[in-house]
Amino acid sequence: MTTTQSGATPRVAIIGAGVSGLCMAIRLREAGIETFTVFEKSSTVGGTWRDNTYPGLFCDVPSRYFQYSFAPNPDWTRLFSPGPEIGAYLERVADEYRLRERIRFGVELREAHWEDGRWILTGDGVREEADFVVTGCGFLHRPSVPDIPGLDTFAGASFHSSRWDHHVPLTGRVGIVGTGSTGVQIVAELAGTPARLVQFTRTPQWVFPTVNPRYTRLSAAVYRRFPKLMDVAYRGHQWWFEALLMNALLRDGIPRRLVGAGCRLALRSVRDPGLRARLTPRDEPGCKRLVASAGYYRAVQRPDVDVVTTAIDHVEPRGVVTIDGVLHELDVLVLATGFDTHALVRPMEFTGPAGATLSDAWAHGPRGYDTVAVPGLPNLFMLMGPSSPVNISSMFNVAEAQAGYALAMITRWAAAGRTALAPRADAAERFTAGLQDALQGSIWLSGCQSWYLTDDGTPVIWPASPAAHRELLDEPRLADYERV
Ligand code: NAP
Repeated sequence: MTTTQSGATPRVAIIGAGVSGLCMAIRLREAGIETFTVFEKSSTVGGTWRDNTYPGLFCDVPSRYFQYSFAPNPDWTRLFSPGPEIGAYLERVADEYRLRERIRFGVELREAHWEDGRWILTGDGVREEADFVVTGCGFLHRPSVPDIPGLDTFAGASFHSSRWDHHVPLTGRVGIVGTGSTGVQIVAELAGTPARLVQFTRTPQWVFPTVNPRYTRLSAAVYRRFPKLMDVAYRGHQWWFEALLMNALLRDGIPRRLVGAGCRLALRSVRDPGLRARLTPRDEPGCKRLVASAGYYRAVQRPDVDVVTTAIDHVEPRGVVTIDGVLHELDVLVLATGFDTHALVRPMEFTGPAGATLSDAWAHGPRGYDTVAVPGLPNLFMLMGPSSPVNISSMFNVAEAQAGYALAMITRWAAAGRTALAPRADAAERFTAGLQDALQGSIWLSGCQSWYLTDDGTPVIWPASPAAHRELLDEPRLADYERV
């Protein structure tokens, strides 16, 4: 057990062993703080990269940037990593940093309350005490299962895309509900395998055309021989990706026009004018989360692939019935219908010293301070917390910045006589108002339905540049915190 300079030993409970939770554990270990435990309800690490195993899964953020900056991987096989490679990378990082010895697998914590100056955490027969709680529960975690009448009467196999059943044969008639990144990736990959593939599209999406070249063995050897080059590659990929895509989303200008032109050009590759019209979105590229694919438009033009844009009415044992009364007979029905992205750490409940609860604080949706903390709940830091997914950027980069912020608060606590701090309510209100202001005029308000906003217009994602988010988290502003 390592103590800090003042002699105080912060006990830290980390919830979740995905990208964020592992990052926090590593940061604590590097700071010489060994008194932490990671609670992971599953049996292994990886978070969303463990859960999602659907065919065609790849990450549309470049691999050399979609990794921890302190643990670069010379062996990525492609510009954009296939999902299994990212899962394997996280497993390897957990081994290299000897994290498994600190992870309690198979424990789902359900409740935490503040008592006598520390958190008491309970769940799955466990009762733990901690001076700090750091959550790393992700936002693409709880499957969103649509409320379609009759869904449970379907006679074939049916599952959510993040719970793919690899035992189910895909050679018959397969239906995919959803046209987000997941639905598009599945269709692009599966087309040609099932006798009939039907994609149910409620809202057409803009699809940014992409290529995914392979890295050569030579490049891996060069990176191994000159590891500093991996840092250069990380910064380089961060720069072009953020400069092109984030600038396109944040303001009007050449990057936005280039991205829009790329999407429109790709759509023109659909030769049948009827199909093209049905695939044409009514919103601006980027209003919903941009989808990237190399092969989607090629896939939907195959004779064995149908895109159904008539709304679903109900499901019956034989398949999906659309509102025009047509029955689409299916053997397998995949729900690529996304996640409850507003759930964040829920259903876990937190109760602070004066009785403040997370449920009350989030009655109108997730909100907080500096994207990591919530008034009334001291010594609690949420990685990938309210308003922190930086749109299309690298969640590894976000996790590093937020873990650095939490570590700064943990070391400050130890050096300052164990004083527990929570953000002041007025500071959090100012912060939320700033986020709402930042949204005005953004592409995200340009007329589409997305998960990016709560009911009262608070963004669930970070509405400014990734650099501004890193700067925000660079150093906690203690004047915005109060003792509890
Ligand atoms: P999503 O973007 O939320 O898309 C869900 C899809 O399901 C939408 O097309 C939605 O239609 C449709 N849908 C939901 N309920 C429906 C219903 N009752 N009837 C018909 N259609 C329905 O989900 P996702 O594709 O799983 O992606 C979730 C997030 O994961 C994305 O935002 C992205 O950040 C991330 N992701 C990233 C990658 C990557 O490469 N980095 C890959 C996959 C996913 P509407 O649009 O009409 O609501």
